[in-house]
Order: sequence, then C-alpha cells, then structure tokens
Amino acid sequence: MFGNAFHGGGSAQASQAGADVRYNLDISLEEAYRGKTAKIKFTTLVSCTSCKGSGGEAGSRPTNCTACYGRGKTRYQQGFFTIERTCATCGGAGQTISKPCRPCNGSGRARKEKNLEVKIPAGVDEGTRIRVTHEGEAGLRGAPSGDLYVFLNVKPHNLFKRQGADILCKVPIQMVVAAIGGEIEVPTIDGSQANVKIPVGTQAGQQFRLKGKGMSVLRTTGRGDMIIEAKVETPVSLSKKQRELLEEFAQLGKGEKNSPESQGFFAKVKVFFDDIGK
Ligand SMILES: [Zn+2]
Ligand SMILES: [Zn+2]
Repeated sequence: MFGNAFHGGGSAQASQAGADVRYNLDISLEEAYRGKTAKIKFTTLVSCTSCKGSGGEAGSRPTNCTACYGRGKTRYQQGFFTIERTCATCGGAGQTISKPCRPCNGSGRARKEKNLEVKIPAGVDEGTRIRVTHEGEAGLRGAPSGDLYVFLNVKPHNLFKRQGADILCKVPIQMVVAAIGGEIEVPTIDGSQANVKIPVGTQAGQQFRLKGKGMSVLRTTGRGDMIIEAKVETPVSLSKKQRELLEEFAQLGKGEKNSPESQGFFAKVKVFFDDIGK
C-alpha cells in the first residue's frame, strides 16, 4: 500500500509522484493523554537542492520527449487492439532534460535524512494514524511529494490500563481497611492524586468510578473516567501477636452476619452433598 503502486495508474503526472512513507512512533500513555510535539527523523528522497527538483542543470530547460511527443505514453497496434504503455524514454513525464543535473542524475531528488516535528493531539490511541501531507518521498523531477503517515503505538503502562476513554487502576487495599472502611490516595494520569473513599465491607474486585479522571478524548475537551478496582490484600508475614489477634477475631465472628458470601456458598455445598446422598 505504501509503495509507488499507491499512486499507480492515472495521469503521467501521478506516476511520477513520490511514494507515501510510513513511520512507527512509540508513545507513553501519559503522552497519549497530554498530546505532544514529536521530533522524528527518517531517511527518504527529498528534492535535490542543486536543481531545486527540476532534474536539469541550471539554465537547461526540459524539452518534450521525442519518443512519445510529450504524451508520456506510447501506443502501438497489436491485432485489433491499440496498446498504450508508459513511455520508457521519459518514464511517463512527457519531457526529457537536455542537461541532467549531475548530483541527482536528473531525477530531481536525493536521499537525505529528514527532521520533522509532528503534532500528536491529546487523546490518541493505539493504531491512530497521523497524516502529514507532502512530507513523504519527493516526486520525480518536481512531481508532487507523497504523504507521511505516523502510526502510533501506545506502550503499556505500569499502573494504568486504558479502556477506551476510561482508565482502569487496580489498587491493593489492606484487608482491615476493606473491612472497616477508610480513604486511600491514588495517582491519576494527569500527574496528580485523587482521594477515594473505601466504604465499610469493600470486597475484592469492587470498583469505584472517579468521574472525569480518565483519558482525554480526541478532538474534544472531555475526559473519560478512572475506575479503581479494589485488590484486597491478605496480610502476610504475621507476628505472633498479630496471628493471635486474628485467631481471636475468628473465634468471635462465625456466622452469616460477617461472611454472607461464605455462608451462602457453604449452604449450596450442603445442598450438593445432600442431593448426592439421596
Ligand atoms: Zn538535481
Ligand atoms: Zn516520452
């Protein structure tokens, strides 16, 4: 798709046009959120500085191609058909150069490193394609340049997972905080922090939505939400005292009131075995 074939067919002029160029750019999730000006460099065919892209030496003028009389195509008869082909002498341009420019061999272009600044708007996503017109390969002998396409790859983030305009963040919450409630601080994609109230009796996997704290939305001023998912953490490496306290706690709390889910589960287990026993 990004070869010369992209411009295939059409007029003599089009067949001389430069090819489009694809450039792959990795950005972070923060950069996708904020947008940025990316400095990119790549090597491509640019307009020859000696002849300013004309392909002819200073003072020389292009003349009509004698093989195709300036049409860029040659015709010949084969049986009943007239076959038309791109002229081999002028390459379809319809003109030839009497004194070709030496540095570019008359092509009007040269291979060179190109440095560009490309604006990446806020809210771009994986696979977003940014088109920069006329920054692809230069065309032959001053024909139009191709376009540059910047393909974006958003790198995975350590803390955040993008879900469209929303951002999911799984936050570990201490078992005791989950049980008796509390408040936690979470980082946000804009580089600040937000407070989240953890209600009494929070369960693992429970989600809390922070309105307007998600990704920016392309071409709008809006923002998605941030979703906090509770990852209730079981304490490890207990001291003797802690262990004793938890054992004491376990002795105190046995029943439906403290663990309705467990009770419900074990009730189903009982029914299961009762049914087998029948
Ligand atoms: Zn030149
Ligand atoms: Zn010709």
